[in-house]
Amino acid sequence: MMTTVRRHALGAVAFLLFAASAAAVPVTINYLDGASEGFNDPTLGTSRKTAFQYAVNLWATQVHGTVPIVIEAQFNPLGGTPSAATLGVAGFNSVLRDFTGAPVSGTWFPMPLANQITGADQDPGNADISAIFNSDVDTPGVLSGADFYYGTDSNPGSNIDFVTVVLHELGHGLGFVSLVDSSTGAWFSGFPDIFGRQLTRVPGGDFDTMTNAQRLAALTSGQVYWKGPNVVAAHGGQIQMFAPNPYQSGSSISHWDPSNFPNLLMEPSYWGATQSIDRTKPAFKDMGWSFSGVADWSMY
Ligand SMILES: [Zn+2]
Repeated sequence: MMTTVRRHALGAVAFLLFAASAAAVPVTINYLDGASEGFNDPTLGTSRKTAFQYAVNLWATQVHGTVPIVIEAQFNPLGGTPSAATLGVAGFNSVLRDFTGAPVSGTWFPMPLANQITGADQDPGNADISAIFNSDVDTPGVLSGADFYYGTDSNPGSNIDFVTVVLHELGHGLGFVSLVDSSTGAWFSGFPDIFGRQLTRVPGGDFDTMTNAQRLAALTSGQVYWKGPNVVAAHGGQIQMFAPNPYQSGSSISHWDPSNFPNLLMEPSYWGATQSIDRTKPAFKDMGWSFSGVADWSMY
């Protein structure tokens, strides 16, 4: 989830197939909006789709894979106030463990990743990612003075860069989500997930060696860090995760802490336009994603 001042989900129909280059992972987009609303809005629909596809392409050229990633996307009125609103909500729709070739046993993997590792669609007939964007942002009463900016040049002025929001939400959809139960500290359905296995409390130890009670306490400790070796190598150390007290549903743990500098794509609140997947890339490598070798667009 990204809100401003934030960004999540679980999830007809226009249909698009994208294949930018030989290295890009194929992506199928299903727009779920009605005939004249959301991505099909008579005024904004075309520019919304153009910006969405642009952000999808940025991810697709980076991620290596052969199994089409199916994304369901739509705009819905998610509300908000003149000063704060949820911008979008997204996530992967299902998980898989102990499949052939799984890098770690007894561990949940997001379906979009499990598909690439196995080289076959493990959940045929179902979309992999669901994403919802807040149509109220484009109305006067929500985020006064700011609407979504649907250009692709990272120059939104005082508006909110939609490409950035889509990049962020797709980061969740591809796997940047904690599945730890926020009321008990338990793993999802009795097994750790590959995202959670990257997390450690400093001091306190790794999430995958904790009791449920210890993990529950960690969620609101402000002491949670990503320990995966690719992130540590890229960043020069562990990166702090967002772990405020009280727990913020949809935001806690599933984002980097906003205190990180420079700002990162997967922080809980919108801070400005970016077209870089920055530290999400090594984090995804830690989880088992492969990348195409195409350079990221940002120096950071
Ligand atoms: Zn988010």
